Amino acid sequence: MTPTITVNAEEAAGVVALRDLLDGEVVTPGDPDWDQARRAWNLAADQHPAAVVYAESSDDVVAVVGYARDNALHVATQRTGHFANTIASFENTILVKTSRMRGLEIDPEARIARAEAGVLSEEVGRAAAEHGLAGLAGSSPDVGVVGYTLGGGLGWLARRYGLAANSVVAVELVTADGRRVRADRDTEPDLFWAVRGGGGSFGIVTAIEFRLYPVSEVYAGILFFPFERASEILNAWRRWVDDTPVELTSAGRLMQFPPVPQVPEPLRGRSFVIVEAAYIGSEAEGAALLRPLRELGPVLDTFATIPVEELRHLHMDPTEPVAGVGDGMALTDLTPETVNALVAVAGPCSGSPLVSVELHQLGGAVAEESPDHGAVGAIHAGFALFAVGMAIDPETTSFVEARVEALKAALAPWVADRGYFNFSGTPVDGESLYPPETYRGLQWVKAAYDPGELFRASHPIRPAARPA
Ligand SMILES: Cc1cc2nc3c(=O)[nH]c(=O)nc-3n(C[C@H](O)[C@H](O)[C@H](O)COP(=O)(O)OP(=O)(O)OC[C@H]3O[C@@H](n4cnc5c(N)ncnc54)[C@H](O)[C@@H]3O)c2cc1C
Repeated sequence: MTPTITVNAEEAAGVVALRDLLDGEVVTPGDPDWDQARRAWNLAADQHPAAVVYAESSDDVVAVVGYARDNALHVATQRTGHFANTIASFENTILVKTSRMRGLEIDPEARIARAEAGVLSEEVGRAAAEHGLAGLAGSSPDVGVVGYTLGGGLGWLARRYGLAANSVVAVELVTADGRRVRADRDTEPDLFWAVRGGGGSFGIVTAIEFRLYPVSEVYAGILFFPFERASEILNAWRRWVDDTPVELTSAGRLMQFPPVPQVPEPLRGRSFVIVEAAYIGSEAEGAALLRPLRELGPVLDTFATIPVEELRHLHMDPTEPVAGVGDGMALTDLTPETVNALVAVAGPCSGSPLVSVELHQLGGAVAEESPDHGAVGAIHAGFALFAVGMAIDPETTSFVEARVEALKAALAPWVADRGYFNFSGTPVDGESLYPPETYRGLQWVKAAYDPGELFRASHPIRPAARPA
């Protein structure tokens, strides 16, 4: 569902005064560049905030928060708007865009990166690679590293090194009372726990520090098979992952490439069942692991040893803004019955409009418990699913949404008891995304730091006071 909010003209006039308080730019409805300013990476999101602020610094963030508080407004934060479909409302809301806060430092000795809120995932990847290091990036090169990490961060090195949120060592943020806070395991530990997987409900993050890992090359690629072999290949992939080491993270996927110029010629307009994987290890070991799938006779095989930062292209995510709608769920397992149910709704002969239905292998470090982890904790589900289609016009959008819902209904018997934040593509409350005791803990932190719900975030956490 695409949120559409009508802006209130008086409200827009009021926020103009904000310009005097900031170094950054303030754009309001009526300004010539308003449509550009309110645009999100996901073009399906028709965002109508009261104003857009391009923050230049944490000082600007403090000023916006203070202004919003004094004027009974809310504040939402975005870097790119990849997740814009998950914001339920922009009513009375100033949208802070962090795209001008681009500082990035790498400490190769400590293996720590410090990224300001506007840094993109691929920027970290490139900078870390200069030192033979890698962050825990996801599939998309141009997501904001902060948004990705606050929601958990499931990437190609996840089964070996875990979720990105659990590698965060410090978070700098501005809280609802306008304080600048550096939260780490010793300072404001509850807040530090909550932001690592609890999303943007607790403040505006101005910078984040996280661990890097000594990975410079991976054996990675894609095996493409004819779409008609969807059931056979997904079942074979499912059996295969049982025996893969944690150094290997993979995804099984139904892919119907749209007939658009952005898709390279050999793939454009064609459909496949594919297996993507990244292995931290030698080419010989990787090739040996891959042998059972190669024996199935892929029509295209792109596996090779590549620099780790090139993983940003592995999943073939769009690198330009697109209009998409989709949703995800975590699955306890992927049995032959699950595959049948999935293929019946999204496979060949189903008339599916979905561009991608992907199943990400979990397990390994993703499922490991640790007292050092943040709120994202450990995910015990077997697989994380995400299904997406293009939102070209209202009719196509409704068709895609209906098919995503049909897919979720068909897979309901295998749904895990919690979802995965970053793959939940609609504006659901955070409650469905955590074990109950974790959600209660998040509510207590929210009540302590933002009891009036100044911040509007993806998958919001509702404040609830800790029992006396
Ligand atoms: C094509 C594509 C591929 C993806 N691949 C993966 C993947 O492989 N693994 C994975 O885990 N996720 C993946 N995601 C999900 C992605 O991680 C989330 O959409 C993430 O929120 C994107 O962050 P962003 O800042 O770019 O998005 P935005 O829409 O700009 O921000 C998303 C939310 O993050 C919060 N936020 C952002 N910046 C701040 C800040 N400075 N302070 C406080 N809160 C903030 C806000 O609540 C905001 O609503 C993918 C999404 C897309 C569209």
